Amino acid sequence: MIEKQPSCDDVSEPELMPVDEARHRLFAALKPTARVESVGLSKAFGRVLAADVVSTMDVPGQNNSAMDGYAINASSIPSSDEATLALVGTAWAGTPFDNDVGTGQAVRIFTGGIMPAGTDTVVIQEHVRDDGEHIVIDSDAVAGKNVRQAGEDIECGQSILHKGRKLEASDVGVIASLGITTVEVYKPLKVAFFTTGDELRSLSEHTPGDSLPQGMLFDSNRHTLACLLQNEGVEAIDMGIVRDNEKDTRAALQRAAEVADVVVTSGGVSAGDADFVTRVFHEMGSVKFWKLAMRPGRPLAFGKVGDAAFFGLPGNPVAVMVTYLQFVKPAIRLLSGMDDIEPLTLSAVSESKLRKSPGRIEFQRGVMRVDTDGTLKVASTGKQGAGRLSSMSQANCLIVIDAQVDGVQPGDTVGVQPFHGLLN
Ligand code: AMP
Ligand code: MG
Repeated sequence: MIEKQPSCDDVSEPELMPVDEARHRLFAALKPTARVESVGLSKAFGRVLAADVVSTMDVPGQNNSAMDGYAINASSIPSSDEATLALVGTAWAGTPFDNDVGTGQAVRIFTGGIMPAGTDTVVIQEHVRDDGEHIVIDSDAVAGKNVRQAGEDIECGQSILHKGRKLEASDVGVIASLGITTVEVYKPLKVAFFTTGDELRSLSEHTPGDSLPQGMLFDSNRHTLACLLQNEGVEAIDMGIVRDNEKDTRAALQRAAEVADVVVTSGGVSAGDADFVTRVFHEMGSVKFWKLAMRPGRPLAFGKVGDAAFFGLPGNPVAVMVTYLQFVKPAIRLLSGMDDIEPLTLSAVSESKLRKSPGRIEFQRGVMRVDTDGTLKVASTGKQGAGRLSSMSQANCLIVIDAQVDGVQPGDTVGVQPFHGLLN
């Protein structure tokens, strides 16, 4: 009788580690880099704050008008009918009116103009008659209206952006509005990556038009990984293709661990004879976990080689992306100092029947959309093989199906992780 080894095809394997537990253990084992630098605001976008940004002023700095109109004191508003007020001057945005304004007086004011002393209300120009010397308002004017209060956006002394925040366009704008010109940020992480496989052909060695020898395939994973890493703003170090032998694998891992904070590889992590990453890594580093209860991406190695965190991803192109998104991306964000690291998972109603066996969480490729009734719906992209990278390009989300689920019927609720955010 053949003694059977665990295989990717097995329906349920009790020794497989649940993804949540693996994630928990992984994040507990990692600490953010302590390397900090100061950068000018023009270089701050996408960087991670290493210290809180504390406001040194009120924004806006003074009470000002939200509309074009007339600044008055609320005591000038008549209780019924109309009131005639003397027009005593103009407050432009950037050129304030410097005198006091009393009851029975008004100042022409434009949006952003500082509220003159004695005024607390702006009556919009559409509700006023103006003859050049006097204005007429009526009892519909509302006390305190159309005024932006000093500090209503940001108060002086307020901690407005916190350590661990990856700076968005709005954040850079907020910092600029405070007159702050430099920020403390974490230095970019160094991430070395290489692919493994005797069957791989590098595009840099390929002449267009030449045919690919039998059994060879183009190294797509290295290009995918390079782009995924570029998205994180890390310093990515492309170490090329490493052939399937112990000597090259050991040398590459060693070099990578010397130059980088994180090492990411693809291929060579299952139990096959040509899977040298597993073997060499076992020798050189401390392994944290191997076989995950997930699909695609069951074999995944995580651990330390020297001081570097090491991720040995599977070779199949979809498995590379899925394991990167579920493990490597959050880990890179954590090590980069970010506090918001986990992928966003929403609920959607499946429009497709999805095949799945219980035992492993599955990340299938989906196209989500908002239906006419407002519900989030998701349909499968079709066949889900871990080698079908085009399914990732067709998809706009991952469909997340919990480990214990035994198939999904149309109308069932599933998780979805959108590929696109609005700001990042
Ligand atoms: P492995 O985990 O090394 O056995 O790889 C599994 C499968 O993934 C291989 O048979 C290839 O079809 C594919 N593969 C591995 N590495 C790459 C790569 N760098 N680019 C594209 N496909 C790959
Ligand atoms: Mg291989």
